[in-house]
Amino acid sequence: MRHKDIWTGHYRGIVYEVAKWQGGGGNDIWNYYIYIQMANVPKEHLAQFDAAADLITHYPALLERLEWHCGMTYVRRYVDHERNESCIQAGCDYNHLYDEGQVYSKEYLAHDARRTIDDLYEKAPWLLVWCRGCGSRTVPPEEAVFEDGQYTCPRCRAKQLVAKR
Ligand SMILES: [Zn+2]
Repeated sequence: MRHKDIWTGHYRGIVYEVAKWQGGGGNDIWNYYIYIQMANVPKEHLAQFDAAADLITHYPALLERLEWHCGMTYVRRYVDHERNESCIQAGCDYNHLYDEGQVYSKEYLAHDARRTIDDLYEKAPWLLVWCRGCGSRTVPPEEAVFEDGQYTCPRCRAKQLVAKR
């Protein structure tokens, strides 16, 4: 058996994950992943994910173009048939020649994961975000408010402020 640690967080409404594995030589192997909910992709943009039915040999170009550590090296699709939802997990590893002798930490990788998410919004400004208050999916306004990386839409925020009075 091999040990694996996973840390998870939200940033700008997107779930990311940092993983630390034990390599065969007792060394640490680090990865980070981001999860893109297909429900947050407007219909007219879905094709760029669906065209790549075989994601393992055919990476979606949009994701491949994002800023990763030494490039994206992992893509998987998860389908929840009961809820009729799917998401794509995309990630990269820190197991390159370049990484030899480098010391990494979960904070280091979390920072890189958040940078990838920033770049995703940069390259896909049409990406929707889910409001945890009302469940609506909208393009977040520029002054969007995130708490612990999770989004609350302006209408729900206004309601919260009234409730707090
Ligand atoms: Zn809302």
